Amino acid sequence: NASKGKFPKYPDLDRWELLEKMGDGAFSNVYRARDLTGEHGEVAIKVVRKYEMNRMQRSNILKEVQIMRQLDHPNIVKLIEFSESKQYYYIVLELAPGGELFHQIVRLTYFSEELSRHVIVRVARALEYLHEEKGVVHRDIKPENILFNPAPVIPSKHPKPKQPGDEDKVDEGEFIPGYGGGGIGEIKIADFGLSKIVWETQTMTPCGTVGYTAPEIVKDERYSKSVDMWALGCVLYTLLCGFPPFYDESIEVLTEKVAKGQYTFLSPWWDGISSSAKDLISHLLTVDPEKRYTIREFLAHPWIQEVGPTPKTEK
Ligand code: ADP
Ligand code: MG
Repeated sequence: NASKGKFPKYPDLDRWELLEKMGDGAFSNVYRARDLTGEHGEVAIKVVRKYEMNRMQRSNILKEVQIMRQLDHPNIVKLIEFSESKQYYYIVLELAPGGELFHQIVRLTYFSEELSRHVIVRVARALEYLHEEKGVVHRDIKPENILFNPAPVIPSKHPKPKQPGDEDKVDEGEFIPGYGGGGIGEIKIADFGLSKIVWETQTMTPCGTVGYTAPEIVKDERYSKSVDMWALGCVLYTLLCGFPPFYDESIEVLTEKVAKGQYTFLSPWWDGISSSAKDLISHLLTVDPEKRYTIREFLAHPWIQEVGPTPKTEK
C-alpha cells in the first residue's frame, strides 16, 4: 500500500487505515480513513494530541464528544466512535468528502443566490435542530466548519442535441443548484469544540428546577442561541459576495466595527443581489440580540421560501 508509512503510527487504531490528511487544528489532525472491518466504509478521524493538553482542554474534548453523541441530523456530521490511547483521543466521524465550504468560496469567488440558499437553508436546519430540539448552541459557525458531500451527477432529462464533434463529451447533467453536475450536495456541520448545552429538556418542565435559576443566567442562555444567528448572517453575507461583512487589518478596529454592527452592502459587488437577501442579512447582523432573528424567523423569511433564480434588484 502506497500510503503506508506516510502518517505517524497511532497506537490502538488498528481498525482504521489512514488514507489522507484532510485538515488540522491546534491540537488535532483530521484524516480520511478506511474501516478495515468493512462496517463503515470511509470515515474521518480527528486525532487529538492529548499529551499537549491541560486538564481543562481535555475535558473540553470530552464535552465535545458528549454533545455529539446526542445528535442525529442529516446536516450534522455523525459521531461513529470515540476511543483513546495514553497519548491520543480518536474521534471517528462520518466523512464529508467534499471538505470545507471555505475552499468552495475561494474556488468560485462567490455563490449565486440559488446556491447560497441551498447551502444556508441546510445550515439553518441543523441550527433549528440544535436550538429547538437539543438546546445546543454551536458557537463556531463559519465556512471552515461547514462541510459538504459532492452532489451526484443527475443525467439530463432533456440532453442538448449533440453537435458534430461532441460524440465523446459526457452529459454533465441537469443544472440543479446543489444537485447537478457534482457541485455542492448535502451540507454537514462539523466541529462542536466550542458548543454548549444551554438548557436541559428535563429542567425546562414547568415544575422543574428552572425556577431557581438567576435572571442573568436565564437571560444569558436566551441570548446564546443568537450568537449562532449572527454567525449565520456572516456566512450568508460571505456566500453571496465572497468576502466577510466585517474585516480590518487591525483587530481593535475590527472589534469596534463588529460591536457597532458597521457593515455595508458594498458596491459594485452587492449591486446585482436581491433586496430580499439584503433584508434577511440585515435582520441577522442586528447588534441587539433581542431584535435579531431567531432560527424560526430566519426560516420563515420570503428569501428562504423562494424557489428558483431570484430576480435581480431593480436599478
Ligand atoms: P478544529 O477544532 O481543530 O477546528 P475541526 O473538527 O473543525 O477541528 O476539524 C478541522 C478540519 O478538519 C475541518 O475544518 C475540516 O477541514 C476537516 N474535517 C473535520 N471533520 C471532518 C469530516 N467529518 N469530514 C471531512 N473533513 C473533516
Ligand atoms: Mg474547526
